[in-house]
Amino acid sequence: MKPTVNKISKSDLKTSIDYHLRCSLCKETPTKDYRDLFLSTAFSLRDRMAEKILHTEQRYQASQTKRVYYLSLEFLIGRLMGNNLHNLGMFDVCREFMAEAGIDIEEVREQENDPGLGNGGLGRLAACFLDSMATLDIAGFGYGIHYEYGLFKQEIDNGYQREKPDNWLADLNPWEFKRTDEKCIIPIKGRIEHFQDRDGEYNPMWLDWNFIVGIPFDIPVVGYGGKTVNWLRLYGAGSSADFDIQIFNEGDYFRAVEQKVESETITKMLYPLDTIMSGRELRLVQEYFLVACTLKDIIRRYMKNNENFDRFPDQVAIQMNDTHPSLAVAELMRLLVDEYALPWGHAWEITQQTLAYTNHTVLAEALEKWPAALLERIIPRHLQIIYEINRQFLEKIAARYPNDVDLLQRMSLIEEGESKQVRMAHLALVGSHSVNGVSSLHTEILKQDNFSDFYALWPERFVNVTNGITQRRWLLGANPRLAELITDTIGDSWITDLSQLRRLEPHADQTVFMDEFRDIKRANKEDLSKIISDTLWLSIDPDSLFDIHIKRIHEYKRQLLKIMHIVHEYLQIIRGEKTPTVAKTFIFAGKAAPGYWVAKQIIKLIHNVGQVINQDRRVRDALKVVFLPDYSVSLAEKIIPAADLSEQISMAGQEASGTGNMKFMLNGALTVGTLDGANVEMLEEAGADNIFIFGLKAEEITDMIKKKNYHPVEYYRLFPEIRRVLDAFRDNTFCPDEQGIFQWIYHRMMNNEDSYFHLPDFSPYIQVQDQIEAEYLDPVNWTKKAILNVARSGKFSSDRAISDYNRLIWNKNAQS
Ligand SMILES: *Cc1c(COP(=O)(O)O)cnc(C)c1O
Repeated sequence: MKPTVNKISKSDLKTSIDYHLRCSLCKETPTKDYRDLFLSTAFSLRDRMAEKILHTEQRYQASQTKRVYYLSLEFLIGRLMGNNLHNLGMFDVCREFMAEAGIDIEEVREQENDPGLGNGGLGRLAACFLDSMATLDIAGFGYGIHYEYGLFKQEIDNGYQREKPDNWLADLNPWEFKRTDEKCIIPIKGRIEHFQDRDGEYNPMWLDWNFIVGIPFDIPVVGYGGKTVNWLRLYGAGSSADFDIQIFNEGDYFRAVEQKVESETITKMLYPLDTIMSGRELRLVQEYFLVACTLKDIIRRYMKNNENFDRFPDQVAIQMNDTHPSLAVAELMRLLVDEYALPWGHAWEITQQTLAYTNHTVLAEALEKWPAALLERIIPRHLQIIYEINRQFLEKIAARYPNDVDLLQRMSLIEEGESKQVRMAHLALVGSHSVNGVSSLHTEILKQDNFSDFYALWPERFVNVTNGITQRRWLLGANPRLAELITDTIGDSWITDLSQLRRLEPHADQTVFMDEFRDIKRANKEDLSKIISDTLWLSIDPDSLFDIHIKRIHEYKRQLLKIMHIVHEYLQIIRGEKTPTVAKTFIFAGKAAPGYWVAKQIIKLIHNVGQVINQDRRVRDALKVVFLPDYSVSLAEKIIPAADLSEQISMAGQEASGTGNMKFMLNGALTVGTLDGANVEMLEEAGADNIFIFGLKAEEITDMIKKKNYHPVEYYRLFPEIRRVLDAFRDNTFCPDEQGIFQWIYHRMMNNEDSYFHLPDFSPYIQVQDQIEAEYLDPVNWTKKAILNVARSGKFSSDRAISDYNRLIWNKNAQS
C-alpha cells in the first residue's frame, strides 16, 4: 500500500516539470539534461510542499498545538530529492516518468549537492528528528544556520587528507524559500550603562551595540504520507544599507562596507570540528546569532495568539542540541526581563519550563567553556545575566549544603582560574527542566560521573532518550531491494512503525527468504564494488567479507585498533602462520578535523597499509584495504547497504550513542563492538548470539584509570602479536618512501601513553575477529543472524526516539 493522500499521475508530474523547465529555468522541453531535470523536479515538489506547509500551519493554528523548536548548530540533512519523493508518495511515479523518457532517476538524484551543514552524528541526528517529527505529525521545527560553506570536501593526496571548500550554494538550492520579509536585527557588542529606574531599582541598559541582520531560509520537511509538512529554518547573516544608516550619515562609507562584510562573515562556514570545542570568537558569535534569531522568531509567533507569557511553556518547547545553543538560557531571560519587563523570578520560571538540554558527549575536549572576557566584549548583557543566574543558584546550593566550598566551586557556572570561564553545560543544566543523555549507558555515566552533583540535587531532571535513525532514509531510500523484500513479506507498515520488523523473525530460517536476503546483500555489494572501482581503480571481490569502519576519524573511535587488526592478519598470512579462509575487504571512510594531527596521521596510515597490502601478491585473494574519500550522507547511503560487518569499536564509555551502528543493523550487517553507547542496547535487542561484543567495559576502564594500573609497555612485552604490529609501525614496513612517519605510534605506547586503551582491547579484538571469520564461513548461519538483526532493530527508529522526547520532555506536564 502506497500512501494515497498524494496520488499524482504521471501526466500531472510531467506538466509540472515541463512548466518549471520552461518558466523557472527558461529551457526547452523535453530535456535530457540531468541538472535541469533535477531542478525542475525539485521545484515541482517544492510547489506541493509549499501548499502543504500552509495547510499544516492552519491545522496547528486551529488546534493551538504546542510547538517544538529544535535548536542545533548542525543539520546534516543529506540530499532531499529521493527522501521528499518517498515521503510524498511520488517516488515510483517519478521513476517511471523518467524511465519512459529514457532517463535513470538515480542519475538525476546524483545532480543534487549534498548539503554538508554538519560534521557527523550530532547533525545527522537533528536531520532524522525532523523527518520523524513531521511523520508523527508533531509541530516540530528545526532552527539552524545557513552556512555558505558546509563541511569541507575531503580529497586525498599521497594518502594525506586535503580540505577543499564546499561551496554548496554556488548552484541554486531549489528547496529553500528565502524570506527577506522576516529578517531580524540582532544586537551585538556595545556596553552596559548602569541606570536606576523610577523606583530606584537597578536597571542596566545595553547601549551602543552594533547589529547583525538575520535572514531566514526555510526548507520544507515533509512527513511520510505527505499530510504534515514542517520546515527547517536556517538563518544567514547579512547586513543591510538601511540599517547602516548611522554610519552612512557620518559619511564613513568604508566603515559601513566593512561592517557589512564583517557581518556576512558570521555564517560563512561551518566549523569543521566534531566533539572538539573550537574556542574561536567567530564560533561564539555564530552560537549567539542562532539563538538570538530563533528566540525572536519563536516569540513573534507566540505573540500572534497571546498577550502575555503565561502560556509560553505550554505552547513552546525548546530543545538544545548539545550546549552549542545554550546561550538560549541567557537570551530568553534577557528578552523577558529587558524587553518585556517581566520580573526576574517569573522570567526564570518560564525559561526553565521551556528549555531542555541534550548532552552529546563526555569528552573533556568537547565541553564548551568560553572566557568571560570574550562574552563581555561580544554580549555584555548576557554575561551580566549569567552572573546573576549563578549568584542565585549558588545561594540556593549554599543554603542546602552549608559549608561545602568545594561543591560550590564544582557546580558554579563560572570556572575561576587565571581567566574566568563560563561553563556552558552548567548554564544549560541550570536553565532547563530536563537534561538527557542519548543512550542508557551514556545517561548513567552523566548521572554517576560528569553531572553527579546536579543529579544529587535534581534527580527528576535526568532523562534518557536513546538516539534513533529514520528508516525512511536509511532503509526505504538507501536500500530499495531490501525494503521491497520486507514489504513483500510483512507489508509496508514498518515504514511508519519500525517495531513491525519483528514479524520478519519467523522468516529468518526459511530458505526462500534467506536466499532472497542473501541475493540482495550480494547485489548491494556489487554496486559498492563498482563505486570502489570507479573512484579508486581497485577491483574488489563482491564475495569477500565487507568489513566496514566509517565515521569521523577520532582517536576514541579507534580506527587505529582496526588498522592494527588488519596489519596483524597481514603479517600472519605472509609469514605463513595462517591460511586465510575468508577473503576480506576492509572499507574505511571519514573526515578528520583539519587541525587534528593524530586523526590525519591515521588517514595516512590507512592509505599506506592499504598500499602495501593491496599490492602484495601473497595476500591478493585474501585482503584488500579501501579508503573511500569524502564521507557524507550520500556516501553512507551507498556503503551501508553493502556491509557484512559493522565496526563499532570505540573505547568503552566514550561514544555517547552512535547512530551509524543503528544504520548498519537495520541494513542486515552484523556488529562487532564494545559495550559502548547504544551498542549496549543493540545487544539487548539482537541477543548475544547475533552480535560480537568484546573488550573492556566502561567501568573497568574507569577503574584502571583511577588505579593508574594500565601500562602499555607491559602489553608490548607480554604479547608478541602486539609487539609485532607496533614494530611494523616503527620499522617503516608501511612507509618505505617516507621513513619514520609512523614511529609516533610506537613511541606513544612506549611512553605509556595510550589514552584510548588500544592495547588491552587488542587480543580480545583479534579473538572475536577469528570467531567472526569462522561464522562467516557458514552462510546459512550468518544470513540468519543478519535477518534477526534487521528484525530486531525496531527500537532504533528515530520515531521511537521522538515519541520519547514528546512524552518525557516536551509534554511532561500535559500527561502527569
Ligand atoms: C550516521 C552518520 C554519522 C554518525 O556515525 P557514527 O558511526 O555514529 O559516528 C556521521 N556521518 C554521517 C555522514 C552519517 O550518516
